[in-house]
Formats: sequence, C-alpha cells, structure tokens
Amino acid sequence: MATFEYRCQQDGNFDVTLPVGTAGPSTSCPRCGSPAARVFSAPRLARMPATLRAAMDRTERSAEQPEVVGRVPGRRPPRRSTNPAHARLPRW
Ligand SMILES: [Zn+2]
Repeated sequence: MATFEYRCQQDGNFDVTLPVGTAGPSTSCPRCGSPAARVFSAPRLARMPATLRAAMDRTERSAEQPEVVGRVPGRRPPRRSTNPAHARLPRW
C-alpha cells in the first residue's frame, strides 16, 4: 500500500491510501465530493526500511520523551597543552 496525495480546490490536500499502481489522476474529495486532482509527489510507501523507521520514530519521540544524556553528544572538553612554552603564547 502507498499513500497518494490529492488536492481539492475547496478543501485543500488530503491523502488516500491505495495499492501501488492503482492511483488514478483524480478522485472525489471525501468532504465535498467534487473532483480532486492528484498531486504528483513521491508516494509515501507504507513499508519502509526498518532502520529508517526506527530513526524516524526516535526523532519523533525525542520531542516529548528525550533520552537522558550526561553531556552534549559529540562535544569534547577543549584540550589543554602540557607544554609550559604554550602558556606564554598570546591569547586571542
Ligand atoms: Zn473538497
């Protein structure tokens, strides 16, 4: 199954889920029943790679249930030189 997007002149865009390859160029609007043209975008497939789905789920979850970390990921404390000559260099 894939989700296809259609646009009603009056009600705006809406999604229709259909088997792949069966989406017609137009369908009737679920609100007003008038013909709605298909918006040609990449079909959002119901089946996506498990790793991608996990990453998207984790991203969405981080908005309300962030995982607790001890420090900002990827950042390290600045390195301090142990050479005493470096202490005499001008500071910026
Ligand atoms: Zn409509």
